[in-house]
Amino acid sequence: MSDFPLFIDGQFSEAASGDTFDTNDPSTGVHIGTVAQAGPEDAVRALTAARAAFEDRRWAGKRGSERSRVLAAIGKGIRDRAAELAELEARDSGATLAKAKGADVGGAATWFRTMAEYAPLLDEPEALPQTIAPGPSYNYLRREPVGVCSAIIPWNFPLQMAAWKISMALAAGNSIVLKPAPETPATAVKLAEIIAEAGVPNGVVSIIPGPGPGTGEELVTNPLVDKVAFTGSTEVGRQIGRMAAATVKKVTLELGGKSAQIVLDDADLDLAVDGAAYAIFFHAGQVCTAGSRLLLPDALHDEFVERLVARARDIVVGPALRQGVTMGPLVSQTQLDTVLGYIDAGRKEGATLVTGGARLTGDGLDDGYFVAPTVFTDVTPDMTIVREEIFGPVLTVQRYGDVDEAVALANDSEYGLAGGVWGTPARAMDVAARLRTGTVWVNDYHLLSPKYPFGGYKQSGNGREHGWLGLLEYTEAKHVHVGLDPRRASKRWFDMTVPHPRP
Ligand code: NAD
Repeated sequence: MSDFPLFIDGQFSEAASGDTFDTNDPSTGVHIGTVAQAGPEDAVRALTAARAAFEDRRWAGKRGSERSRVLAAIGKGIRDRAAELAELEARDSGATLAKAKGADVGGAATWFRTMAEYAPLLDEPEALPQTIAPGPSYNYLRREPVGVCSAIIPWNFPLQMAAWKISMALAAGNSIVLKPAPETPATAVKLAEIIAEAGVPNGVVSIIPGPGPGTGEELVTNPLVDKVAFTGSTEVGRQIGRMAAATVKKVTLELGGKSAQIVLDDADLDLAVDGAAYAIFFHAGQVCTAGSRLLLPDALHDEFVERLVARARDIVVGPALRQGVTMGPLVSQTQLDTVLGYIDAGRKEGATLVTGGARLTGDGLDDGYFVAPTVFTDVTPDMTIVREEIFGPVLTVQRYGDVDEAVALANDSEYGLAGGVWGTPARAMDVAARLRTGTVWVNDYHLLSPKYPFGGYKQSGNGREHGWLGLLEYTEAKHVHVGLDPRRASKRWFDMTVPHPRP
């Protein structure tokens, strides 16, 4: 059996084709294990099992309180295996151990625990306004599962994203088939073991590592699927939207970003310098919400840049599991080439490189994909490095004269995922209201919670995840009308006394 097999209909198995691929440590190039590579036929098998599970209501028919108990057991299972999962995540994805423990493993457990709290809330019908014409009636809203969901996720927060999709789908009573990114399949397969032990019925959750083309496409186009939940690049998100439209599936898209951080002239500089560095360099900038465009007032520009560069040079770049390392590698050779290509474009377009700007080697880094924290100044709004999502540790710094200009520069993007404002809360909240993004952090950054909705304006996505709003995306809304007119027995339906509107 492969080290990381498929999980379909409650069983671990090889791919129908017998194909496998290797997963390697991006810090060292060391081989971690072989992974069963799901093909389209495996996707169909998983979807067929999910459909059967949904139709016989083995999960959808349970009360929210019963689903809640199972969700809580998955959360506990993750916590019980936290050390093993965190180490595996660090090796498979290049996350530092701190990020793997906190964001990935801790986050995953928190999402299941929180969705365990939310699940029972869906049992209660919501009262709707009552009508008296043409007779009295009682109206209410039921929140029902959408049916079979497919979920496709990227490589930057592998376990946390698997947890986002699966916990919300399960809380609402759906079946789900999840495809992890081929770069980082390992912890999702371990999550499958925990899900099986927690008592989720067979077929309700399947996890199938495999490629986007073919396998992912099957999950988006197959008529057995009711909803697609996608997190990834805007480019693939557009394709997903087009493919899913053929069968009018529900689609939520969590896509790319080019988030701006505005520093106001009354900001606490110690907080803002450290926060701005965290916003861009956390997980080597491979974060959809990365604060990759820094907007500084003219008066603060030089001092701020000087302090930021010092902070960037303090970051200890190295293998994810090495003691003292605060920034790990990029996930792959492809990502390394992409990021170095953007740095080159920045230089060629005339930006000033003030720190970083190169691959790091030597001192045990030769076989990994390390890039130094990089800062460009003297950038203009039309430069490639300002417009496109780099997904690496590269920050651009723009100057602004007044707050109106800062807001205009921040909103000058096809993306609208997130943003940050550093300054006194009253002024910063005013700026927050003017930013066209799904999340704004004031004097903070990157904080996501299962209780707060998250998603993008503009080309950063459709729909919301997390919180009550996010959970509702995994439900259908059904209006039930109960006629209570005592005269109904004598009523003749095609002879209504209520006048119809005239054309
Ligand atoms: P990607 O779009 O290349 O891949 C994401 C997933 O889609 C992978 O599982 C991949 O195998 C699959 N895929 C690729 N082509 C497909 C196709 N034709 N049909 C079906 N599936 C397909 O993204 P990535 O490089 O893995 O991740 C980085 C991107 O993800 C960045 O743009 C980042 O901003 C975005 N992201 C967004 C969020 C968010 O919540 N908004 C969170 C994390 C990452």
